[in-house]
Amino acid sequence: MGEKQMYDVLVVGSANADLTVRVARRPGAGETVHGSDLVESAGGKGANQAAAAARLGGRVGLLARVGDDAYGELLLDAQRAAGTDVAHVIVESGARTGTAMIVVGPDGDNSIVVSPGANAALTPEDVAAARDVIAASAAVSLQFEVPMETVRATAATATETGTRVVLNPSPTPDSLDPELLAAADPLVVNEHEAQQLAGGSSEGTPEDWARALREQGARSVVVTLGGDGALVVDGEGGTGRVPGVKVEAVDTTGAGDAFTGALATRLARGDSLTDAARFAVRVGAAAVTKPGAQPSYPTPDELPS
Ligand code: ATP
Repeated sequence: MGEKQMYDVLVVGSANADLTVRVARRPGAGETVHGSDLVESAGGKGANQAAAAARLGGRVGLLARVGDDAYGELLLDAQRAAGTDVAHVIVESGARTGTAMIVVGPDGDNSIVVSPGANAALTPEDVAAARDVIAASAAVSLQFEVPMETVRATAATATETGTRVVLNPSPTPDSLDPELLAAADPLVVNEHEAQQLAGGSSEGTPEDWARALREQGARSVVVTLGGDGALVVDGEGGTGRVPGVKVEAVDTTGAGDAFTGALATRLARGDSLTDAARFAVRVGAAAVTKPGAQPSYPTPDELPS
């Protein structure tokens, strides 16, 4: 096992520009509606988790790909402002930066189209080239907005180098690769994902789904419960709830990523899973009190008690 002195968390994942328009009514097929002014902000699950962890003071690196366009610049600037080391963000010449086109309806519900762009070109070769960086990081944080073979390669390398794997399998596939599941310590899922991955039965409680996921091979499991906080099943199977923090929720976009970035940083610093989840619940709560994903992420002095 290498010395873990480089990063607390190396996030390997996606970076997207979020292009958001609010509409009074969603357009149907073949229809045009007028919306609000366009808001461009930094997003993508990988970039979000890195920004959240870095704003909290963690030593954070991001392994990702963006294009050499204006959105790539926007995303790099946002990471630098958060305090992330962007030395491992590859700027791919001639490629488009990933974009998420987000339409927010009158009910506040999102409809989103993602164009992966440069994210689709993050390869196992990029991971192999970063092997020493993975070895020198206490934890890697992974999501599913980059090619699955890249996620698998990172988890396998981290397992070999004794680097902890925090796995947030989102967007959620129908089933999880057993090797990936076995690397997850913890697997971080929301309630809906927990239910789906545990077998899709609507019967049972989040505790049942979390235990089922651990029995399927995850080393530990955290289920986020929105305003109700989170649920933890640790490496010994000990199960407990972390209560939510009451806040005025304005926009939940990116709350799950804020939670996961915060959790990974605390685990990297040696917290127990329950203590890390307690901290991450406060970070998630702070993130819902402001609009946007990365723009809503708190510094330590902005956390609710
Ligand atoms: P999203 O997809 O919106 O990013 P998610 O579905 O992945 O989120 P949630 O379980 O909804 O994840 O939320 C993650 C964390 O954010 C929760 O564990 C909690 O800490 C915080 N959170 C979310 N909604 C609220 C809320 N209404 N009030 C307080 N905290 C919240």
